[in-house]
Amino acid sequence: MNIHEYQTKELIKSYGVPVPDGRVAHNVDNAVTVAEDLGGERWVVKAQIHAGGRGKGGGVKVASSLDEVRQFTDQMIGSQLVTPQTGENGRLVQRVLVEQACDIKKEYYLGMIIDRGSQRITVIASASGGMDIEEVAKTQPEKVIREAVDPAVGLMEFQCRKIAANIGLRGKQIHEASKLMRALYKCFREKDALLAEINPLAEMNDGSLMALDAKMSFDGNALYRRPSITEFRDFDEEDPKEVEASGHGLNYIALDGNVGCIVNGAGLAMATMDSISFHKGKPANFLDVGGGASPEKVGNAFRIVLQDPNVKIILVNIFAGINRCDWIAEGLIKAMQDQKIEVPVVVRLAGTNVEKGAAMLEESGLDFIMAENLDDAATRVMAILGGQAS
Ligand code: GDP
Ligand code: MN
Repeated sequence: MNIHEYQTKELIKSYGVPVPDGRVAHNVDNAVTVAEDLGGERWVVKAQIHAGGRGKGGGVKVASSLDEVRQFTDQMIGSQLVTPQTGENGRLVQRVLVEQACDIKKEYYLGMIIDRGSQRITVIASASGGMDIEEVAKTQPEKVIREAVDPAVGLMEFQCRKIAANIGLRGKQIHEASKLMRALYKCFREKDALLAEINPLAEMNDGSLMALDAKMSFDGNALYRRPSITEFRDFDEEDPKEVEASGHGLNYIALDGNVGCIVNGAGLAMATMDSISFHKGKPANFLDVGGGASPEKVGNAFRIVLQDPNVKIILVNIFAGINRCDWIAEGLIKAMQDQKIEVPVVVRLAGTNVEKGAAMLEESGLDFIMAENLDDAATRVMAILGGQAS
């Protein structure tokens, strides 16, 4: 789960990472009040969306007067901000972060990720931070430093000092950077983060360091034990189909193909997507209706899958272990009758009460296309689509 920059800054500040003074604003008057409260002569107005590259898309502006704060906020709030990371439609800006502007001497990069290869949280740092870090990582990878953290002992002082020295920090800054890294690491561990990124980590004219931009992302599976992080969730930034699905206890992930998938069990759902891909098709989604899929759940699954206009066919793949095929069949029949489904529906049923379930579908007189097994199901799907993957 991603959170906004202003939320990340609030969080890491509480761990001792220095950030500029600032507050979030939801409208123009609000933004001007924040700027007045902060004082000073220059402010930065930053669009809050779950995507980076805002500097390049006009989502970060330095204002030299309260009038400019007003003007920039007015331009940003309510607009669709397009950045190199948003796609061409951009993202709707609903709030801005107003901060006191700082004079930057140099921009560094500091990140932490879970490196799945080494199974360790890994610190990534570079002396070439700022808006072109992606380019630096591609063309001059030697300028990006990596340091893996042993989970048994955590991020050690000597590692921090090494990283700091390697990106060119000197003297007092090395101590300052170490403190900052250890604070960020503590936050990362305690909140079950998957990613933390400070870019730029800015050096001020007086040599001090500050997190000018900050982004964190958290493990959705750990949210049950991190209520303070769950509070940061912004549903407006998520796929509405995924939000609705989670409300119904369904695990749905939107993808970009045209074969809608309704499956029970995460493993079987993955196998179903693999099978479609193997037959040169493209799944429109991952969907696990869970072990005890009731007729209501099956109905909800159809509704959510069909909200995606790309879906040209649905593949239902059920292996009933805990579940019963006749119960699933009841759900399928009801969904077909209630929802006027216009796309073809291919069904593969196996497991408990399969004969009964298949007979119910047959007798319903509805247009289910029955498949023998998973491979047969994917073959039929592709035959109907005429081999068209999208
Ligand atoms: P991003 O483009 O979405 O990553 O947004 P950032 O928050 O990183 O801002 C982009 C750039 O704006 C930074 O790399 C800085 O160069 C600049 N910037 C951000 N805050 C300030 C500030 O307080 N003062 C100055 N002078 N520049 C800033
Ligand atoms: Mn940035």
